[in-house]
Amino acid sequence: MTEKEKEMEELKKECLEFCYKHPLYEKGTCPVFGEGSLEEKIMFCGEAPGLNESLSGHPFCGAAGKVLDELLESIGIKREEVYITNIVKLRPPNNRDHKSEEIRDFSPYLERQIETIKPKVICTLGNFSTAYIMERYGLKDQIQGISKIHGKVFEAKSLFKTIKIIPLYHPAVATYNINMKKILKDDFKILEELK
Ligand code: URA
Repeated sequence: MTEKEKEMEELKKECLEFCYKHPLYEKGTCPVFGEGSLEEKIMFCGEAPGLNESLSGHPFCGAAGKVLDELLESIGIKREEVYITNIVKLRPPNNRDHKSEEIRDFSPYLERQIETIKPKVICTLGNFSTAYIMERYGLKDQIQGISKIHGKVFEAKSLFKTIKIIPLYHPAVATYNINMKKILKDDFKILEELK
């Protein structure tokens, strides 16, 4: 096991212990920590697990996950070559939007996942993760709704290097509006040069 893998395992253990004591935790479900490549490449950050994810413990394994897989495949990237996680690690009841205090509770784990991986690129999926990550990296004044800033590349200084932040529509949009898949596919093309 590499140092990075050890660090991530430790962080996962810590995060799961926190999750089991959190009010959002429901017996019989799984926290969804995140998974994938720890290489300094591309990280995807969604919002919170849905039902399928909270039953399996894996991020983006339901309908939105299928779309994400298809988008990655369209640019020749395998799921195992990127890291996929969410801000909130537990499923909010009935898939309601998560609350700001839930972001506050779970974001330290996301921060430490980012610090461990040191990705070149963070792709934020949807409005919530875009707003959180852009504010966190000093881009608050450039935050707009995802329909305005999807597919744009923002540069931000992190503790370790300059990183690219790319807001994307949440893949779930393509499950209820098929036209959105084309827009997502076009946005994903940017990643071809960055992989
Ligand atoms: N939606 C998300 O934001 N994250 C998942 O893991 C699944 C669906």
